[in-house]
Amino acid sequence: MKITEVEAIPLCLPVIDDTRADGTQDALIIRVHTDEGLVGLGEVDSSPTVAKAIVDAPPSHAIARGLRSIVLGCDPFDVQMLWRKMVEGTVYFGRAGAALQAIAGVDMALWDIVGQATGQPLHKFLGGSYRDQVRVYASAIMPDTPEEVGDLVRRHITQGYTAIKLGWGPLGRVSARLDVALVRAAREAAGMHDLMIDIGLVWDAAQSIKMARRFEEFDLFWLEEPLPPDDLNGYARLADAVDVRIAAGEQETTYQGLVALAEHGHVDVLQPDLARAGGLTPAVRIAQYAYDRNILCVPHAFSTGILVAASLHFVAAMPRGQLAEFTVSDSPIARDLLVEPFQIESDGAVRVPQAPGLGVALDDKVLRHYAQGRVMDLPGRQV
Ligand code: MG
Repeated sequence: MKITEVEAIPLCLPVIDDTRADGTQDALIIRVHTDEGLVGLGEVDSSPTVAKAIVDAPPSHAIARGLRSIVLGCDPFDVQMLWRKMVEGTVYFGRAGAALQAIAGVDMALWDIVGQATGQPLHKFLGGSYRDQVRVYASAIMPDTPEEVGDLVRRHITQGYTAIKLGWGPLGRVSARLDVALVRAAREAAGMHDLMIDIGLVWDAAQSIKMARRFEEFDLFWLEEPLPPDDLNGYARLADAVDVRIAAGEQETTYQGLVALAEHGHVDVLQPDLARAGGLTPAVRIAQYAYDRNILCVPHAFSTGILVAASLHFVAAMPRGQLAEFTVSDSPIARDLLVEPFQIESDGAVRVPQAPGLGVALDDKVLRHYAQGRVMDLPGRQV
């Protein structure tokens, strides 16, 4: 089999609110086409325009090449070899950041092709079928008032969620008093269910330690990203000083960056995003690393159903995989892109797809509605 085209399709809502830390307002979909008619699906969580340029760029020289020029004509079954070729072919402008995010999308699509071609769901290739459903946590932006927090948490508990995370919004940006009031409202509404709080990169170590102690009475499952991603000393001071689990990793795009968070930042939960951190190929190594070190690995995912599917397969294949992130954003890009959107079951879990590959298909109408630019017709499909 040979790769015949790599499509990078930016999706965007008609209006973007760039004051919100909400990654579901746009997306970059990757489709890898083959000479046998199979089309692999992937997704990049980045600035779609930047990541698309990294896919589309013509080669400048041996180590400054766009991803399409690297994989075109290759056998998609050489997925791990192609991952290395993409990393080595982008050393000049890559090594981390957007290049690795773009590689993640192509890598995901290659794994999807391998699964489709062999008739096996993706988790079979990532470590095996440890479970056929994955408990998910509802992930939402923190509202501005305790009343809104209470309503939002109660609504999701009623829908079946057994864990909820609220993050960003006003947290760490208005006052410590408001932070405590918002978290208190969340705990009161969540009852016995698991609650996570995501601060969003704004505190220093001293403030984080102080606030983690104030949050102690709310029994958080974890406290996420209170510090900027490169403050490893601060993360270590925090994690060593308090009892609550400290979670981080969604900003990392490399295996080395995620390992450093654990080794030097002492974090308790690693959160690789499969559409940012180089894709499934390195993520499997991260999951193995976390297992060996007996810390949690819970994939970050705040984009479309393609990333949800990849995350479900990833957690299904982890020996101690216990949770995945599930955005409850009402953006149609997050909610409506799949022909069959994922549904929460009454026990707070989501079923792992069992169809070949990622096991999901895109709604062509929705794709074309939000696509910026040309979308190729798929072989054998009426459009
Ligand atoms: Mg986060």
